[in-house]
Amino acid sequence: MRRPALLLHQIIPASRSNGPGLRCVIWVQGCRLGCPGCFNPETHSFEGGSLIGIEELSAQFLSLGSGIEGLTISGGEPFHQAAALAHLVERIKARSTLSIIAFTGYTLEELHGIRQAGRVLAGLDVLIAGRFEQSKRVAAGLAGSSNKQFHFLTGRYSRRDFDPIPEAEVLILPDGSVQLTGIDPILW
Ligand code: SF4
Repeated sequence: MRRPALLLHQIIPASRSNGPGLRCVIWVQGCRLGCPGCFNPETHSFEGGSLIGIEELSAQFLSLGSGIEGLTISGGEPFHQAAALAHLVERIKARSTLSIIAFTGYTLEELHGIRQAGRVLAGLDVLIAGRFEQSKRVAAGLAGSSNKQFHFLTGRYSRRDFDPIPEAEVLILPDGSVQLTGIDPILW
């Protein structure tokens, strides 16, 4: 049997602008939802990115130990890879107390019709759901547009925990490159 793997665009080991506390962030590669004005078009193609095995990926997160509060999954569209994502979420939840937050362009209702999405949802603490709508864009609170719905799937967080999150941050990555994460204030 083929081992489960995720097509990934990028991993950042420590960020403060992608959820409560210090978080590891992954951006999956590939999205077919085509929201006009998407802020992350380089993640759309399924041709790019790197395929990384779930065992290797989860070991990487777990090795960060208590140095991080949790994992944030963004994209791209994470639920296009729901089966692999389910393996990842289940492994992390079984082996740690890390919280898990995921972004999706689907609504929660739409996810109920996607195979394996229920397994992913069962391991998430928070889901931030819905298409990006350019006419409703906001540069605050982790939501790119005001129609985005926050679903608190466990009691770990509430809306209040998201208020102090910085809108954006500048990171210096291990290879020396500089990256802006969060919502780019210059574009808005
Ligand atoms: S779902 Fe997300 S990544 Fe996909 S087009 Fe919409 S905003 Fe962009």
